[in-house]
Amino acid sequence: MIQDINPLQLNNHYDPDIKSDDKSLVVVYSEKSFLLAVNDETGEIAYPHISDLKVTTESDLVYLFGIGDEKFFLFLGNTGELSYDGSRFAFVDFSRVRSRLFSPKHYVYAAFTAFHLAEWYDVTRFCGKCGSENVNDRIERARVCPKCGNKIYPRINPAVIIGVTDKESNRLILTKYRTGFGHNALVAGFTEIGETLEETVKREVMEEVGLNVTNIRYYKSQPWGMASDILAGFFCDVTGDTTIKMDDQELKYAEWNSPEEIVLQPMEYSLTNEMMKLFKERGYGGTI
Ligand SMILES: [Zn+2]
Repeated sequence: MIQDINPLQLNNHYDPDIKSDDKSLVVVYSEKSFLLAVNDETGEIAYPHISDLKVTTESDLVYLFGIGDEKFFLFLGNTGELSYDGSRFAFVDFSRVRSRLFSPKHYVYAAFTAFHLAEWYDVTRFCGKCGSENVNDRIERARVCPKCGNKIYPRINPAVIIGVTDKESNRLILTKYRTGFGHNALVAGFTEIGETLEETVKREVMEEVGLNVTNIRYYKSQPWGMASDILAGFFCDVTGDTTIKMDDQELKYAEWNSPEEIVLQPMEYSLTNEMMKLFKERGYGGTI
């Protein structure tokens, strides 16, 4: 999955006293794009160092996280005022980073995580209560309004990925969205306020494919910065009638698949794909 970058590790402990140095990498984010150097032949991406950007004001940078001995900072200043070598660096749409098999993998994971944080910094420039300009908290990752004291923490949206299984026939429900992502997926959806993750599983399965489920069992989770979410994967068993009644507003395909019928996604980054792969390789027995 995207977060599997062994032996490296993401260190997201927030320390406002960490200062940038010549080795620091800078995430320059603008309109869902990152400033990157892309080697089209090898598929390797690289983030600019501070020296590549001539950033002189430390206050324009906020520490994001570390991976290995590399520290990542987000540029909060005006991207239009940056100067860089345009023959090396260009803004690359995040959807391209997601859909292409770029390397190294920890830089792709960094992009997903930086995307989540950059979006959050972008939409928290001003206080939602009184409209004043927020500042960064001195101790923790938060935005604080200097006028009314309103504090905003990073927002993470919980969502579930659901492998609906039929023990009797050894099949799994695969779906395809009506728009956007074109490959096979699983039933999925965001948690509503006031419900548990298990209730989200039951509701989403009923909404998308019209089935009742039981024996809900947690599998694994995955941070998925592109929708500012944390995904929790569950398998569950269909109970009662197994006839799919598809929500055709959201989906264009929802069918029971046997292990040998399952066509995986082209990328191995997602929890969804890992869950489909598990069923493809081990069938129902792999999910219990
Ligand atoms: Zn305020």
